[in-house]
Amino acid sequence: MKRALLSVSNKQGLETFAQGLVDRGFEIVATGGTEQQLVAAGIAVTSVATVTGFPEMLGGRVKTLHPRIHAGILARRDQLDDMAALANAEITPIDVVCVNLYPFAATIQRAGITRTEAIEQIDIGGPSALRAAAKNADSVWAVVDPADYPKVLAGLDQDDQAMRRELAAKVFRTTAAYDAQIAAYLTTAEFPDTYTPTYVKRQTMRYGENSHQAAAFYAEPYPDPHSIAAAHQLHGKELSFNNLKDADAALQTINEFSQPTVVAMKHMNPCGIGQGATIEAAWDKAFAADSTSIFGGIIALNRNVDLATATKMHALFLEIVMAPSYDDDALAILAQKKNLRILTIQLADHAQPAPRMMETVSVSGGVLVQEADHRVETAADLTVVTDLAPTPAQVQALLFAQIVVKHVKSNAIVVAKDGQTLGIGAGQMNRIGSAEIALTAAQTHSNFAGAVLASDAFFPMGDTVEYAAQHGIRAIIQPGGSIRDQESIDKANEYGIAMVTTGVRHFRH
Ligand code: 5GP
Repeated sequence: MKRALLSVSNKQGLETFAQGLVDRGFEIVATGGTEQQLVAAGIAVTSVATVTGFPEMLGGRVKTLHPRIHAGILARRDQLDDMAALANAEITPIDVVCVNLYPFAATIQRAGITRTEAIEQIDIGGPSALRAAAKNADSVWAVVDPADYPKVLAGLDQDDQAMRRELAAKVFRTTAAYDAQIAAYLTTAEFPDTYTPTYVKRQTMRYGENSHQAAAFYAEPYPDPHSIAAAHQLHGKELSFNNLKDADAALQTINEFSQPTVVAMKHMNPCGIGQGATIEAAWDKAFAADSTSIFGGIIALNRNVDLATATKMHALFLEIVMAPSYDDDALAILAQKKNLRILTIQLADHAQPAPRMMETVSVSGGVLVQEADHRVETAADLTVVTDLAPTPAQVQALLFAQIVVKHVKSNAIVVAKDGQTLGIGAGQMNRIGSAEIALTAAQTHSNFAGAVLASDAFFPMGDTVEYAAQHGIRAIIQPGGSIRDQESIDKANEYGIAMVTTGVRHFRH
C-alpha cells in the first residue's frame, strides 16, 4: 500500500484531499491534530506514533522527526541499496508529503506575544519533511499549499513528473520565506553587520514603472507600522508600482511635520507643501503652492480629514489621498471617485526617537542598503555666517524649507515662506539650474516678498547665491563645507542677505 504523510496546521480542504488519497489506494499517516480531524470525518488514519513507535514528544516539538518517516520519504526509488535498506528496516516508502507550517508570521503579529510563544511557533519537523519530499521530487509529492490539493489529485492520476518538480520548487520558496521571517524576527538588526534584507512577496503588480515591465511588490515580513508597506487601503484602484514609490515619498515627507501639514507629491518630488492652523488651511496652502503640478498628485495629510478639506480635494483629479483618519462624510465624498486610492497611514510619534528604517535601492546585480535620512535640523544647529542674522520668522521659514529640501531630488533648491513652499527646483544637474526653476515659480506668487531659500548641499561657487539675491531671496540655509564657501558668503553680504549653515548635507539621488 502506498503511504501519504499528512501533518497540517491549516486544516482547510484536508478531508477532501485525504479522501481523494484513500480513493487512490493510499494509507494515511498523520500527526495528532491532523489525525483527530480526519478520524472525526470518518477517514481511516494511522498515527505517526504508530509508525515511529514513539509518542509525539516534548509537547509536539518532535512528531515526524524519525528515520521511519524520513527514510521513507528520502529513499531513492531507483536505487537498489536505498530500497533494500528500507526493506531491511521494514520501513514503508512515503510517496506524498502534505504539510503546511505552524503560522509563525501570523502568531508574532498578534499583540502581546512573548518571545517564548513566538519560538514555540517555529516549525521544525514540518519544513524537514517538506524539504525531504521536495529533494526527492523525482518520486515524491511535496504538497505545501491547500490550494494545490485538487491539482495534486489530478497529477497523481497522471504520474505528473513536471508537477512534482513545480511543487518542489514551491516548497523551497515557502520554507525559505518562512526561515526569512524567523530570521527577521530574531535579528536585532546590527546594521550593517548582521542586517540581512529579507522580503516576502506581497503581490504581483499589473506592471512596473511602464506597462511593458513585469513587476511585483516584496515587503519586509514585519514592516515598521509607519512604513508604506504597513499603510491600509480603504478605497480605490490597486496601488501601482509608481503609486507605491510616490506614496512612500509622501509618507516619509509628511512624517517630518508635527503641526497640521499637507504634502502634495509628484513623481517622487513634493510639488507643494503647506502648513496651517487647521488641516483645511494647510491644504489651501499646499494647493496654492503649485496648483498646476498637483493635478494627478499624491496627497499626504497629517490630521484627520474633515468634510471641508475632502470637498476641496474632491474637486481635483488626484491619484492618492493618505491620512491617519477620515470623518465618515469626508470619506464618503472622496470615495465618490471610484479610482481614487484612499489610504490610512500611521504617523510618526514625534515624542519618540525616529524608528531606524532601512532604505534599499537596486543597482544592476545588487542592492544598496542604508539607514533612512532621519536627521532633522533645529535652530540650535544653525550657524550664522553672514553679517546679517536671520529674523525669528526667517529662521522658522528656513527650517521649514530645510525639511522640504531633504525630500527633493538633488540638486534640490526650495523657496518658501510662512509654512508654504513657493518654488521647488528638483533633480537638475547643476545647482543654479534648480535655483532658476525654484525662483521662477516662486516669483509668480503674490506673497513672494521676503521668501527664503534652502539648498540640499553646499554651493560650489558664488553664482547661485548671487542669482537668488538678485531674485529677491532674503535668507538662505545650506550645509556649507565647500572650499569656496567664502565666495557664497561674500555674495550674501554684498546683497545684504542672511545665510546660515547646518553642516549637514541632505542629498537625495
Ligand atoms: P497536528 O495539528 O497534526 O498535531 O500538527 C501539524 C503541524 O505539526 C504541522 O504544521 C507540521 O508542520 C508540524 N510538524 C510535523 N512534524 C513536526 C515535528 O517533528 N516537529 C515540529 N515542531 N512540528 C512538526
